[in-house]
Amino acid sequence: MPKEKKGVKLDHISKIYKDPKTKKDFYAVRDVSLEIEPGSFVTLLGPSGCGKTTTLRMIAGFESPDEGSIILGGEVIDELPPNKRDTAMVFQSYALLPHYNVFDNVAYGLRIRKLPKDEIREKVMNILELVELGGMENRMINQLSGGQQQRVALARSLVVEPGVLLFDEPLSNLDAKLRVSMRTEIRKIQRKVGITAIYVTHDQSEAMSISDKIIIMKDGIVEQTGTPREIYYHPKSLFVADFIGEANFLRAVVSGQDEVTVEGVILNMQTGDIPAGSKCSLILRPEAVRIEDTGLLPCKVTFSCFMGAYQNYHVAVGETNVVINDYNPRSKKIYQEGDTAYLNFSNDSVNILRTD
Ligand code: ATP
Repeated sequence: MPKEKKGVKLDHISKIYKDPKTKKDFYAVRDVSLEIEPGSFVTLLGPSGCGKTTTLRMIAGFESPDEGSIILGGEVIDELPPNKRDTAMVFQSYALLPHYNVFDNVAYGLRIRKLPKDEIREKVMNILELVELGGMENRMINQLSGGQQQRVALARSLVVEPGVLLFDEPLSNLDAKLRVSMRTEIRKIQRKVGITAIYVTHDQSEAMSISDKIIIMKDGIVEQTGTPREIYYHPKSLFVADFIGEANFLRAVVSGQDEVTVEGVILNMQTGDIPAGSKCSLILRPEAVRIEDTGLLPCKVTFSCFMGAYQNYHVAVGETNVVINDYNPRSKKIYQEGDTAYLNFSNDSVNILRTD
């Protein structure tokens, strides 16, 4: 299980909707092309309205693309209705049958497929063990916690052995702590089963923790695709840098070969192919900046707060506010509001993006 891991290819797909207010057509998804490897866990991530659910629904067959094609396991599936596609969807609302017990909910898809009774029983019991609901088969759905209902929803999708499993914000109805433990569960189960998974969320930490690859969407287009590390360390745009984790942006000008000027201070760093004279932004993660008595950039502390694992600072570098999370502060000098200090960071922890 699954019978066969399937890859998914989106070939220049677009979806056009009519805006209910202006009555004008607009692209909810525009010219999206993606290759999803068989057996991988891929997340569509982006702010509300960026087109991630529409993309997922097109893969499932609940919507059809106005342009482009969807290929699943090498087969063009544009004309197939949802129940003929080799996909199964886990919904945010779980979509369980409340008056049925756990067994019947999980068995539902197999009964529709008219499998023999014994085979249904064996498959359902196996899958309930896998999602750690063994022994719960006779419970009614309304006697289960939110996390257990989510496991039933997952079991029900897995039991039909789809080539691709689709998740539409499956954890958004759970409380914060359960969301964190369920995302690890989902990831472990996906690894164990080896199924291809496509997951939609607007929660960046969920995406980071669960994915082989993250696809960042904005206004219907793909902004960046990469592993969580690639996206965090090498964001291709200010939007991605800001959306994934926390980021500081320092305005700078490329003042020469491998040289930038920030607030009147010249720093040596690799500027790649950005020509001299260009305006740019230096992207610095809060954990990559140190605050010390001497260093690269002078600053003034405007806020200092002990957070346990780290000391959180806000400092002013000229007009720009920079957030610093200084980890393991126990043995370090603690700066207070009003202190002057310097920022230090290594060149390889800075990203330069051209902004003009
Ligand atoms: P969210 O995180 O809020 O679910 P999303 O990224 O999943 O957002 P979509 O649901 O894909 O976004 O919607 C993309 C855009 O298309 C939005 O502007 C939305 O309002 C619009 N939209 C979605 N469905 C329809 C529809 N049936 N008719 C018209 N517009 C729609």
